[in-house]
Amino acid sequence: MSILEQVLAANRHFVEYLPDEYIHYCPETSKLPKRHLAIFTCMDTRLVDFLEPAMGIKRGEAKVIKNAGNSVTGPFEATIRSLIVSIYELGVKEVIVIGHLDCGIAHTTAESLIQKMLARGISMDAIKMIEAELKDWIDHFHHPVDNIEEVVIKIRSNPLIPKDVPIHGLIFNPQTGQIEVVVDGYQACTNSNVANREE
Ligand code: ZN
Repeated sequence: MSILEQVLAANRHFVEYLPDEYIHYCPETSKLPKRHLAIFTCMDTRLVDFLEPAMGIKRGEAKVIKNAGNSVTGPFEATIRSLIVSIYELGVKEVIVIGHLDCGIAHTTAESLIQKMLARGISMDAIKMIEAELKDWIDHFHHPVDNIEEVVIKIRSNPLIPKDVPIHGLIFNPQTGQIEVVVDGYQACTNSNVANREE
């Protein structure tokens, strides 16, 4: 059975025996996150069905944005777009950036990716188009904790993100499920408010 067939077979069974918790889900709150929270994390497979329970987050409570290495690469790239919609349209009042230990991006290099793309027949012209951006992204990712600090700064300093939205930075252990705080977003908000009052 192909992966697609496996998914569709699982879906037929799922729909037929839909658990009560999904049947009784409240439709009027389905789009707006009940906890007014956006979570930005990594696409790592170990986080699937593990990160949200570890954070006490249930269906309908938060927006979850994912990409490789929970990276932000520009002032209006995909994550920032998702955060803007979450904040201005969907009632998000706080953002948690949560990376994880042993993130694969820390062990990947632009050169390794380029060699693998070339081996799969991708043209050098196509690679040249993204080479500088690729290096800037992946070769600067050395440690997931440093990345969290940098990503929080990028979001916090983005002129499109309102200053009253706390941006927290956390690190997740994909083995134990433990979370540690890297950046307490409330402090940055407080400092910003103090700074504004002094101006
Ligand atoms: Zn990762």
